[in-house]
Amino acid sequence: MKYVRLGKSELKVSRVGFGGIPIMRISFEQAEKCILTAIELGINYIDTATDYGNSEEKIGRAIKTINREKLVIATKSPPRDAKRLAECIDQSLRRLQIETIDLYQFHCINNEEVLKRAIDLLPILEKAKEKGKIRHIGATVHGVEFINKVLDLDAFETIMIALNFIVREAADVALPNARKKDVGVIAMKPMAGGHIENANLAFKYFLNFEDIVPLVGIQSPKEIRQVVKILNDNIPASQDEVNEMEKIRREQGDRFCRRCEYCMPCEHGVKIFPMTIFKSFAARFPTKDLVTGNWVDIIDSYAKCIQCGECEKKCPYNLEIREILKENAAYFKELQSQFI
Ligand code: SF4
Ligand code: SF4
Repeated sequence: MKYVRLGKSELKVSRVGFGGIPIMRISFEQAEKCILTAIELGINYIDTATDYGNSEEKIGRAIKTINREKLVIATKSPPRDAKRLAECIDQSLRRLQIETIDLYQFHCINNEEVLKRAIDLLPILEKAKEKGKIRHIGATVHGVEFINKVLDLDAFETIMIALNFIVREAADVALPNARKKDVGVIAMKPMAGGHIENANLAFKYFLNFEDIVPLVGIQSPKEIRQVVKILNDNIPASQDEVNEMEKIRREQGDRFCRRCEYCMPCEHGVKIFPMTIFKSFAARFPTKDLVTGNWVDIIDSYAKCIQCGECEKKCPYNLEIREILKENAAYFKELQSQFI
């Protein structure tokens, strides 16, 4: 396993990190097997979040017997308010059963309001750093247009961006500035939230970047072995594989929502975003929680859609929003029928 310097944080992390979302769908025992396999394979970087169900608890239980010095544990929460942020940090420490979080990130900065709140709440993270509760501060960003706004704050040691061979523009935008500012770059969504099914292609794309650390979300030890092998073998994509990536990019480029929210608001009350990303959520989060929780209201809002197409005019990526909403609403009903 190769290790990468994560920018000015000086954290040395494995060439690929362990993403904590999919373990929500499996048992504590299965999650432990996945995490311990990842660690055996040399993965030292584990990323999770306050909002990933019981992911933090599963990680905490799995790493209890591992030498803490060998691991880089990252977690995150959205910048809500000062009290809640401080509580989230303490809660993560308890759930993860550790005394210090190596990297604490503001979760999902994707609009001006959240960005402003993050700036206002930075002193809370600095205070937590002084107290030794966290070691480094980062941010996760979804919209490409917010990447440089976040980098230009000069407040973060790492930035996590959505990057894969379908949305490769994120690398063009982030890398020059991140390298100049010595900010470590972490990539979420290497498989484009399920739009890329071929792990070989998805991870060979990352062989192009020595200083970007993709996170792999897996639900079985076999999957983590496969991804680590692709990266360890270090065999660049062949011309045929590059052509295949390009083909998938063309086919899926107008299906993958970049979460910029430019399509919002819908004057008829449809919650376009997050409806556009429902399938990607459904592939990773526990189905029962999804079809009985907040998503019910979100999907119900689709009934108000009059098919005017105004949202599609506002989407900079030309997504076929009406088609995606229709498919996702139907998919939601299909999943819901399993529990009602
Ligand atoms: S097609 Fe019109 S009504 Fe439907 S979601 Fe888009 S903007 Fe709203
Ligand atoms: S549908 Fe288009 S405009 Fe709306 S959030 Fe997704 S990428 Fe952005």
